[in-house]
Amino acid sequence: MNAVDLIIKKRDGFELSREEIEFFVAGFTRGEIPDYQAAAWAMAVLLRGMTDRETTDLTLAMANSGSTLDLSKVVKIALDKHSTGGVGDKTTLVVEPLVAACGVPVGKMSGRGLGFSGGTLDKLESIPGYRTNLSRDEFITQLKEIGLVLTGQSPDLAPADGKFYALRDVTGTVQSMPLIASSVMSKKIAGGAQAIVLDVKIGSGAFMKTLEEGRSLANLMVSIGRLSGRKVVALLSDMNQPLGSAVGNALELKEAIDTLHGQGPEDFRAHCLDVAGEMMLLGGRVTSTEEGVDLAKRALADGSAWEKFRMLVGRQGGDVSFIDHAEKLPQAPIVQTMKWEKAGYVRWLDARVVGETSVLMGAGRVKKEDRIDHSVGILVHKKVSDLMQPGDTVFTLHAASKDSASEAETRLREAVSLQDTPCQPLPLFYDRIE
Ligand code: URA
Repeated sequence: MNAVDLIIKKRDGFELSREEIEFFVAGFTRGEIPDYQAAAWAMAVLLRGMTDRETTDLTLAMANSGSTLDLSKVVKIALDKHSTGGVGDKTTLVVEPLVAACGVPVGKMSGRGLGFSGGTLDKLESIPGYRTNLSRDEFITQLKEIGLVLTGQSPDLAPADGKFYALRDVTGTVQSMPLIASSVMSKKIAGGAQAIVLDVKIGSGAFMKTLEEGRSLANLMVSIGRLSGRKVVALLSDMNQPLGSAVGNALELKEAIDTLHGQGPEDFRAHCLDVAGEMMLLGGRVTSTEEGVDLAKRALADGSAWEKFRMLVGRQGGDVSFIDHAEKLPQAPIVQTMKWEKAGYVRWLDARVVGETSVLMGAGRVKKEDRIDHSVGILVHKKVSDLMQPGDTVFTLHAASKDSASEAETRLREAVSLQDTPCQPLPLFYDRIE
């Protein structure tokens, strides 16, 4: 068996056997199969697809590419959540402390930005000192002691996914259903999660563009979960427009902090409460999502979710003064508003254009080794169905330079379209799959 034969086999549309998939994953993880062959293989998978059997085998091969965590003696039920990635999706920053504050421990290994979608780790690293590389022992001890961990994927857990993820980000191979499903589920399986809430994003700013695609991805992940003995619920949520207002690392962190203080944009807050309700139901804390949502509302109102987040940041080495005084977080030198001269109802506000623009401003990576700029990004002030009057501000740009701001402005002009008659707001969620 050799790598090039497997690339060609997939390129020509044939099904790979379990042994072949395991050979490729193991070889890539050990560094025997180089990045360029793995990238070619990923492109072949993207173009040719995989059967459910191949996807399950790929998931298990990646989950077993390193060590696995067994949390059954650490917590009653190891609960996790994962979003398939979107624009302005800072849900984890709010939901995890919220659920932990309600007495359900959560230990999560998050990822970095991928393509036009942001990553939780990049957002957290806006806080000086915050460690995203906890060891396995640190992870377990912290989960036991404070019931909350938010760290990066440790190099020995599903290392194949870590390597593929970084490669896919810069080779145009993110948007593949088997690669996304195996990436998400391999991390969850290796990380010891027994119950998982999946937030499958759908729309222009998501990897799945249509409800049908989103449903297929959700079904695939739910079935991989079932085959590996995990309880999985998938929520299908909208990502045609950015979630909340902030897009960009420090800006999103600030919005999450506001939300934990009971403020923040209404759509983002409602989204977080629903996801928290689902997690508490799956974690056995409540008997209905409504009860979970009520509990979560209380944890926001009484400040316990905020206190939990503060505890997390301090425990992971972050300087809490930066979240207590969010004005200390990285600030872009250029802050400029973008106004619209026309009146109308917002018919479309393209999350993808907003996400791509923020990446080009420096909030995400174009090449694997790029350093991101935590300070830059975009605030979105209008949502689909909002009425705009001439002179209204639609975006505030936080840019590293005047040139970057004007380039962003040109792109963002394409993101919005108006209509004369009122239109419906977009729903937060489309469906729920168990
Ligand atoms: N999230 C992941 O963890 N992996 C993907 O491939 C896409 C989103």
